[in-house]
Amino acid sequence: MSDARDPLPDWPTPDWPTPNWHYETTAVQSAIPRGLGETVGIPVHQAAAFQFTTLEEAQSEFAQGTGLSYARLQNPTVRALEERLTALEGGAATVALASGQAATLTAILSVCRAGDHVVSTASLFGGSAGLLNNVLPLMGISATLTANTPQAIAAAMRPNTRLVWAETIGNPAGDVPDLAALAEVAHGQGALLGVDNTWGGVGLLCRPLEHGADLVTHSLTKWAGGHGSVMGGSVTVGTRHDLTRNPLYTEGGESSLLSVRGEAALGWRARWFGAHQLGMTLAPHSAFLIAQGLETLALRLRHESATALALAGWLDARPEVGRVSYPGLPGSPHHALAQRYLRGGCGAVLTFEVPDPAAFLARLRVIRIAPNLGDTRTLIVHPWTTTHGRLPEAARTAAGVTPQTLRLSVGLEALEDLQADLAGALD
Ligand SMILES: *Cc1c(COP(=O)(O)O)cnc(C)c1O
Repeated sequence: MSDARDPLPDWPTPDWPTPNWHYETTAVQSAIPRGLGETVGIPVHQAAAFQFTTLEEAQSEFAQGTGLSYARLQNPTVRALEERLTALEGGAATVALASGQAATLTAILSVCRAGDHVVSTASLFGGSAGLLNNVLPLMGISATLTANTPQAIAAAMRPNTRLVWAETIGNPAGDVPDLAALAEVAHGQGALLGVDNTWGGVGLLCRPLEHGADLVTHSLTKWAGGHGSVMGGSVTVGTRHDLTRNPLYTEGGESSLLSVRGEAALGWRARWFGAHQLGMTLAPHSAFLIAQGLETLALRLRHESATALALAGWLDARPEVGRVSYPGLPGSPHHALAQRYLRGGCGAVLTFEVPDPAAFLARLRVIRIAPNLGDTRTLIVHPWTTTHGRLPEAARTAAGVTPQTLRLSVGLEALEDLQADLAGALD
């Protein structure tokens, strides 16, 4: 049980409100103060601690301050990134963390404790499935992974289910959940809907909070950082969420999380758990690189999505290529939901099957074999033996992975060079 009176401050309110700008404007203009001598751009505050000049200042900071005392709790560069992420996702507050994995763990522990239950779609990033199947049970939190339909999710709900979990676009199956229907199922039972929006590009392709989700997470390592050079993660909480049926938040009368923290309770607990208690804090220089990456995310991801669509169509027409999965293909079983929930593109990732993946990979000359996504360079992996290799076979199949599947994360190279590389490897 968290101590709701722990002297970690309530979520700091932004220094200035972010106006109702378009995505591209928010991405470059948010979280930078205007004023004489202010930096143009987000500066790096490479510091572990911040000063007080009197004992009284220190006492007051520890009692109800801004968190600007010790960098595990708060750092101005990390805080600027958090404000930018909140604005881009249309949320209420964000905690930035050291990795996407840290963000997923923090999101779940913000809502669940021992004895609680999570229902998740099975087409998940391998690390998320690992947390749900192997790590959370150690803490007494159980999970059911099931098919990516509202019916299957509803059937798996239990009285102690506190969280429904999905990915905006399933990894690597390319399936798009019916977010509004999942929100209805979750809320109907007093649970929250959490969405890993990594593939939704920080609110560019999809803003799950607008479709009923209560919190979104990101691996900022992917399209946010965008250059394959930095790791990070984040949890953004929405402006509306009902925790009145979750005992973790209501128990304890006057000192319950909801009584003490009010509407800020969920965001408070995410920061308290992820940064303050578990110490999965994001480094300031990483925050700077990610904030900079966000400034070109819209340009990059729209371009990469267009290239991915062209490559998916081209691969689909090749007789040597087996099943091609990309939600942007008109023939995809996920096309209708993609049309409904994604805007400006269907993302930069596609999967396809080849008869001999090892021979195919050995012939590539442009595309590199690496287990990352959202890099400026096009990367390819064999999920069966790498990213999803530690899952039981049935779980791999449920996640849409076969021994022939290859996952391509499309970068910024010219379409013609990528097509020629793939053609050379197929011949
Ligand atoms: C990569 C990834 C993660 C984990 O993020 P890390 O930054 O590698 O810890 C979580 N979810 C999705 C969808 C991812 O692609």
